[in-house]
Amino acid sequence: MTHRNILAPIDFCLLKFDMAFSAADLTLLRIRCTGCGQHTEKLVTVLAKRESIDCAVCGMSIDLTTPHNALLIKETAASCARIGDAMTKIA
Ligand SMILES: [Zn+2]
Repeated sequence: MTHRNILAPIDFCLLKFDMAFSAADLTLLRIRCTGCGQHTEKLVTVLAKRESIDCAVCGMSIDLTTPHNALLIKETAASCARIGDAMTKIA
C-alpha cells in the first residue's frame, strides 16, 4: 500500500500537534474533482484521515493519495499545526 507511506507523515503530524490543532479544525481545503472539475470543500482534519472523498457536485470518488492532493493536504496540515502551536504560545 504505497498511499499509506504518503499519508504517514500526516498521521505523525496530527499526533504530534494534537493538543494545538484547533486551527486545523477550522481550516477548509478545496479539492478539485477530476471528473467534473468542480471543487469540494472539506476540513483539513477530515482530509488528513482519509484516502478519498466523494465529490459534492457529481458524487465521483476523489483520490486524496495523488501526489498533488497528498502534498496539498500534508503541507496545509503542517501549516495549521504551526499556527496552532504558535497560538498556544501567545494565549
Ligand atoms: Zn465531481
